[in-house]
Amino acid sequence: MTVDFFPRIALWTGAKRSIRGKRSTGVGRSGNEAAGGWRAHGFADELWVLNVHRFSEVPVRVTTLFRRLLGVSDLLVEKVQLSEDGLVLRVRPRWRRPRCGECGRRAPLEDRARPRRWRHLGLGAIRLWLEYQPRRVLCRRCGGIRVERVPWAVHQSRFTEPFEELVGYLAQVTDKTKVTKLMGISWATVGRIVERVVARRLDPARLDDLKRIGIDEFSYRRRHRYLTTVVDHERRRIVWAAKGHSAATLKAFFEELGPERCAKIEVATIDMAGGYISAIEQCLPRARVVFDRFHVQRLVGDALDKVRREQLVELRGTPEGKELFRTRFALLKNPWNLTRYEHKKLSQVQRTNAPLYRAYLLKETLAQALDYRQPKRAKQALKEWLSWASRSKLKPFVKAARTIRKHMHGILAYIDDRMTNGIVEGFNNRLRMIARRAFGFHGSQPLIAMLFLCCGGIELDPPLPRPPQT
Ligand SMILES: [Zn+2]
Repeated sequence: MTVDFFPRIALWTGAKRSIRGKRSTGVGRSGNEAAGGWRAHGFADELWVLNVHRFSEVPVRVTTLFRRLLGVSDLLVEKVQLSEDGLVLRVRPRWRRPRCGECGRRAPLEDRARPRRWRHLGLGAIRLWLEYQPRRVLCRRCGGIRVERVPWAVHQSRFTEPFEELVGYLAQVTDKTKVTKLMGISWATVGRIVERVVARRLDPARLDDLKRIGIDEFSYRRRHRYLTTVVDHERRRIVWAAKGHSAATLKAFFEELGPERCAKIEVATIDMAGGYISAIEQCLPRARVVFDRFHVQRLVGDALDKVRREQLVELRGTPEGKELFRTRFALLKNPWNLTRYEHKKLSQVQRTNAPLYRAYLLKETLAQALDYRQPKRAKQALKEWLSWASRSKLKPFVKAARTIRKHMHGILAYIDDRMTNGIVEGFNNRLRMIARRAFGFHGSQPLIAMLFLCCGGIELDPPLPRPPQT
């Protein structure tokens, strides 16, 4: 069996000369060596000796060669076998005395578990497995029998660390279909690997020295489930996330921070819709609450969409109602982003539906008011907008105006500060994209892990060849 993959080894080592393998059972020098080619000796079992002139004059064992190819330290390869599932390397840790898999401390040997396999990075289409029969130890610190630590994988994972690192990297940069296809694993497995990668790579100091934070609710599963996310505006990364979107959820975050770190927070940008404000008032004594532009505009955008839907229901079956089909994006998009078709739709609305067009103008005027750089002028514009919106006879806008009036102070603080608009908006779009990518994960934990992986400032270093330096 072993001889089958012998020509492959020649390819991997990059030998340019013609490959002349020779199956022989005796130990000794063969004529091939003199010609600068290969020689191979089969020992009693499946141990092979190779000699590649380009690398060294010293014969290299297949097991040694594979140990180097694996790129895992503290590991020894005992045997190489080609089976139906791919290449199976029988390995063992370099250390003799076993360590506990959970805490890493040396512990007395108890017995051996059953042999198991770990999936490693494959060679092209061939899967590669590491096989080992791990020992079990009696760990005093963990209080019981644990499987020993192995140098190639983390506790309770059936994938090696380099494999998980590459999966994490691909999950950061590409979509679901490509990750599952490139790595040959299911999407649920990707979710579990991402959780493990995040657990060991997330910066533990991410909660220290927070000064400007952004708190946002984040809906998934068609707005049936919610997460609360906390963003560090200065370092542009997610620092915390949890299930739920109430004041209690946010309070859990402040409790984790502790009063000392809470006191350092200067600015908190939040969503007006959420119930976060009471938690902030209680726990952040020094923080200024800012309602950023993104959330204010989203509030008004939602009101506009409500008016559109009301009009659709009211005018059902009439020619005016038909004109309203496919107007959603024309109304909600920024005017400079409209396509020609959407421009046409918009002028139709202008001609046929006065209330909806009024709602559209209200949305646009608010955006202009928030554009002002001087707080005084912005305040004036905002006040004018509020009186117009309250008299507009459009219920959703009357309600939105009430909310905005209530939080006027925080909205003007945004204009004073003008720090977060782009960051928050860009970040939210990215989060949404990632949530779409994480679609199909069960429960909130894999989604949170995915958010941390992609927006938590985690930099992965997968085992890939470096591009040549020019
Ligand atoms: Zn232990």
